[in-house]
Amino acid sequence: MNQQYDITKIRNFSIIAHIDHGKSTLADRILEFTGTVKNRMNKERMLDTLELEQERGITIKLQTARMLYKYSGDNYNFTNNNPYILNLVDTPGHVDFSYEVSRSLAASEGAILLVDATQGIQAQTFTTVYKALEYNLKIIPVLNKIDLPSINIESVIKTMVNVFGFKYEEIIKTSGKTGEGVEELLNRIIEEIPQPKKDNNIFSRSLIYDSFYDEYKGVVALIKQVDGEINKNSRLQMFATKTKVIPIEIGTLNPNMIETEAIKTGEIGYIATGLKDIKLIHVGDTVCLENECNDKTLEALPDYKPPKPMVYAGLFPLESNEYQTFKDSLEKLALNDAALSCTKQYSPALGSGFSCGFLGLLHMEITQERLEREFDIDLITTSPSVEYLMELNITDLSKIPVLNQINFDSDGFYHIHSSSEFPNQSFIKRILEPWVRLEIITPEKYIGQIIEMTQRHRGIFKNMSYLSHELFNGDKHVTITNEIPTAEVISGFFDKMKSISQGYASMDYEFLEHRDSEIVKVGILVNYENVEALSFLSHISNAEEKGKALVSKLVGLIPRQQIPIPIQATISSKVIARETIKAYRKDVLAKMSGGDITRKIKLLEKQKKGKKKLKAKMIGNIRIPQDVFVKALKMD
Ligand code: GDP
Ligand code: MG
Repeated sequence: MNQQYDITKIRNFSIIAHIDHGKSTLADRILEFTGTVKNRMNKERMLDTLELEQERGITIKLQTARMLYKYSGDNYNFTNNNPYILNLVDTPGHVDFSYEVSRSLAASEGAILLVDATQGIQAQTFTTVYKALEYNLKIIPVLNKIDLPSINIESVIKTMVNVFGFKYEEIIKTSGKTGEGVEELLNRIIEEIPQPKKDNNIFSRSLIYDSFYDEYKGVVALIKQVDGEINKNSRLQMFATKTKVIPIEIGTLNPNMIETEAIKTGEIGYIATGLKDIKLIHVGDTVCLENECNDKTLEALPDYKPPKPMVYAGLFPLESNEYQTFKDSLEKLALNDAALSCTKQYSPALGSGFSCGFLGLLHMEITQERLEREFDIDLITTSPSVEYLMELNITDLSKIPVLNQINFDSDGFYHIHSSSEFPNQSFIKRILEPWVRLEIITPEKYIGQIIEMTQRHRGIFKNMSYLSHELFNGDKHVTITNEIPTAEVISGFFDKMKSISQGYASMDYEFLEHRDSEIVKVGILVNYENVEALSFLSHISNAEEKGKALVSKLVGLIPRQQIPIPIQATISSKVIARETIKAYRKDVLAKMSGGDITRKIKLLEKQKKGKKKLKAKMIGNIRIPQDVFVKALKMD
């Protein structure tokens, strides 16, 4: 493995594609072809290590693999027969992780653009291509899955030529299944992707594009050495977080960690920091040498952003005796997830739990699923919220004790994330909600509907521009830029946009600022008793609509009882919606016609089992099964 450093022989590249176009599968073939891994091991796909990723087919965690490849096009001679070093930088594929995608691309000089021959160009194909162009990456276009029958290769290639302006001959045909085209692809990587830029700075600078936690080596930062070099004895410092690090070891990922003496300009590698807290190392931060880091003339690498949650939700164990296990599991999970931030929370209805911040809804769902699956805990997740900034017109908090536990910033704002932290409206002087800049790329024909939808969600249209690479099945594509409250984007917006555009539109957003807003708390009363766990915060313009929807949903969820039960939604004690659950005789067998006795027995057994498992909350004298909360709080 020891090899003379030669920057002209390094190629750093990512694979970009719409989800399911075969990125991970092709990456495995590349690893095998270069002899980096022996065979496909037991797992179907090497690069997606988490079980959940394998099932969902999405890459949450980035992974890098360093491969050695002897390029047959080089004239063989004794001074120049070193193999090339190919660094594959894997990228996650969802809008929640778009900043991480950007950092991986910033660490690469080229990108392989995969297009599934059965699907053609799809939404994420666009967004990723435009991101890659933003970073001036050399793009190698690839038509994948050519082993599949009844595909029209010619027509997809033509579209790729028309849409992105590739040359016809330029498009490689591959199959991640059979390995066809992999050798040609590797050769093209060497021929076309430029070597990394030479050192042009007097300081050592490395870009962190990913991090993970290793039980033995602590937090491991994956880096691209942009300028200068580091060695195993370097004393390092992070530019933004100021964290100081004396590395335990440095090295390259092959894809396992292999220790090396030094990481030089243009190389991709890792720094094992020994740190126990992943939040001390930020993706996008610049690693510098400790003795250079405070030099006034040292510039950090561009576009750094501290991790910022966009969505907040409460997580509670279904069984209160599982709290300790839940807490331990959450801590374990957070070790590996710099973007996940949680604080303790107590809810009168749901008990002890945590309020957590997530990058987006997918991030939230993945966290919940991993807790349930890897740690076997049943969870209740409250409906997602955003971070509101609130100024009070009183200073005495004795009437709103919950705010005593909430941090209060230097501008006098409380940062609140849930309705349980929302005081009586009369105490509030001012409240602000977060906004994002939202960019939607869509075929021209959906422009009208998409603009209308964003406006229904309180979005403000900013501008629209036609993309320079026209023509997609006769359709031009446009980028629509909007400003919109974060709360609107996280409530089913993505799915609606997808369905309006038949899957062709894609979106990306970034935090803009907090703006003044009119936020109210919608309360839910069951049989005139307030059920705190079901209350939520909403902008005044759609509070009534949301209140009505939840009331209707509850009517369908809460089992009928001996008496009629009124369900109401309120804003500051004014009722905005009301429905009643009719009284009901609790006799399941009566529902059944005919006399199939085995079915009846089965039904009774099922009911018994259900009773054992289902816990309930008493709200006044009404018994509400726990799963009503779970279902009511689950989004549609
Ligand atoms: P990713 O989401 O881009 O990483 O896609 P995956 O590599 O996970 O592949 C998505 C699906 O397509 C999986 O079911 C793969 O088995 C399948 N697949 C990937 N590449 C090929 C290929 O070249 N040929 C065929 N027939 N199937 C493929
Ligand atoms: Mg994948």
